[in-house]
Amino acid sequence: MFNLILFGPPGSGKGTQSENIIAANGLQHLSTGNLLRNEITNQTPLGLKAKTFMDAGQLVPDEVVIGMVDNFMNAHPRANGFLFDGFPRTTAQCIALDALLQQKGTEINVVLALEVGEQELVKRLLGRGATSGRSDDTNETVIRARIKEYHDKTTAVATYYAQFNKVVNVKGEGTVESIYANLKKEIDARI
Ligand code: ADP
Repeated sequence: MFNLILFGPPGSGKGTQSENIIAANGLQHLSTGNLLRNEITNQTPLGLKAKTFMDAGQLVPDEVVIGMVDNFMNAHPRANGFLFDGFPRTTAQCIALDALLQQKGTEINVVLALEVGEQELVKRLLGRGATSGRSDDTNETVIRARIKEYHDKTTAVATYYAQFNKVVNVKGEGTVESIYANLKKEIDARI
C-alpha cells in the first residue's frame, strides 16, 4: 500500500490536487470534509453534530472524525492505498491514524505539505464560496476562524510527522498544473 497525506491550510488546493493524484496512482481518496458534508446532506446524527462546529469554522471533535475514518477504511479493504485529504488535523488524529494503519500492516509513506500565503488563501476561499454553495466559504469571519484553527491545532500534524522525516514541503502557488507537476515528482520518487 502507498498512503499519502496531502497537508496544508484551508484553501491550499488539497481537494483540487487530490483528483489528479488519485487518478494517476489508483489511490482511494479519503476527504474528511467531503465525508462530513455527506453526513450533513443525509441528516445523520453524526452530520447534525458536526454541522455546528463546521458552521463556526471550528474543528469537529476528534472522536467523531476518527470513527468516521475507521469506518471508511474498513469499507475499502482492497484499496491500494489512501490519499488522506483534510485528515489528520490534530496530533490526536495523527496518533489514531498511525494505529489504524499499523493494524492493517501499513503506514504513512509521505506527507506532502502545500505552502500558500494567507492573503491568497482568503482570496481563493471567498472565490470558491461564490460558486460552491459551501456556506463556510462565504463568510470572511468563518474563513479566518478556520485559518486560526489551522495555526492553533493543525500545524502540529507537520511537527508530528517531521519527527519521522516524512514531511516534504511543496509550493502551493502557481498554476494547478505546475503544482501538480511538483507533487507528482515527489510521489513518483517514493511510490
Ligand atoms: P478546508 O480544508 O477548505 O477547510 P474541508 O472540507 O477539509 O475544507 O473541511 C471543512 C470543515 O470540516 C472544517 O472547517 C472542519 O470544521 C471540518 N473538518 C474536516 N476535516 C476535519 C478533521 N480531520 N478534523 C476535524 N474537523 C474536520
